[in-house]
Amino acid sequence: MRGLARPVRLLVVPTTNSSYQRDLDRYSAVRRRDPNADAWFVYAVTTTGVYCRPSCGARLPRPENTRYFADAAAATRAGFRACKRCHPERATTIRAERVAATRRLLEADATAIKLDELSNRLGTSKYHLHRQFKQATGMTPRQYAAALRLGRARQGLLEGAPVTEALYAAGYGSSGRFYAESGALGMRAGSIARAGRGETLRTLVQTSSLGHVLVAASPRGICWVALGEDAAELEAELRRHFKEARFEPPNRELRGYCRRILGWIERGEVAADLPLDLVGTRFQLRVWEELRRLPAGETMSYGALADQLEVPGAARAVGTAAGKNPVALLVPCHRLLRNDGAMGGYRWGLERKRALLEREAAASSRARSRR
Ligand SMILES: [Zn+2]
Repeated sequence: MRGLARPVRLLVVPTTNSSYQRDLDRYSAVRRRDPNADAWFVYAVTTTGVYCRPSCGARLPRPENTRYFADAAAATRAGFRACKRCHPERATTIRAERVAATRRLLEADATAIKLDELSNRLGTSKYHLHRQFKQATGMTPRQYAAALRLGRARQGLLEGAPVTEALYAAGYGSSGRFYAESGALGMRAGSIARAGRGETLRTLVQTSSLGHVLVAASPRGICWVALGEDAAELEAELRRHFKEARFEPPNRELRGYCRRILGWIERGEVAADLPLDLVGTRFQLRVWEELRRLPAGETMSYGALADQLEVPGAARAVGTAAGKNPVALLVPCHRLLRNDGAMGGYRWGLERKRALLEREAAASSRARSRR
């Protein structure tokens, strides 16, 4: 039962949502060209009239020009043409039905991953089923079952179930299996929580009108955004936090993230779709996720957020969790105010909090007057 006694610390990639229910999650999957998303939806680009698989190498459309459909048939009905590059329409009927049936079987029981049994029930060979499923979904039936289990475990943990209970309810026979599978799928407890051991983080410091901005990202997403006057002090704090990580210079992806974050700081242009790689306790993660639902231009009190999380009276705990937020702006803890409407605190300085709120309010009133 190694690992179960540990406090729950999870690496969460909010954008790796195996159900892709929100447009934000879908767009983020398209941006990452995530082959795992191919099983879930196709996207159409209104400016070109073409629809694609999420993994297509085609140029990334702007979010406002993107529409999502459950499958190729729905996109065709809406008048879009299949892309000639990724062939999203290519899943012949029998095969598509077989794949869908496999999906349904696995969804009903994620422990039923014996390919023999599945192929017998569907009247095909093991080999064909494996290949067709993989072609259609980007995952083998086994990987798909693992993704399902992981999604259930993550949900259970975020809802506050005890670790053992969440893992078993999700279909893990052992915790070891959870740790083995979750690592491969972008969610881990353990080493990353411990000071970033084995992690490679890319970092970049830029200057803004609110001082220096330090951004650090793992291969899975942004894990650190800090604001401050002293660049060396910002770097030192990052290295203290991720003691055992390896640090590397920025790549193109990180530079892109930083541009979006600077646009947010200077002009209130919210970039809520950037991928995050957050580590925290169960409670912190709930606070951070809830904060991410709060729209720009709005604020909320610590107490109201505690009520929303159904832990009334936990205003102070909410404040503490917000104060541990590792990613300024991206988890918008600057939108949290004291119950009496006063500013409260801010990890990166009250003046910056005030400025961010003003800029977001101005940007959202500009957006309203354009409508
Ligand atoms: Zn395409």
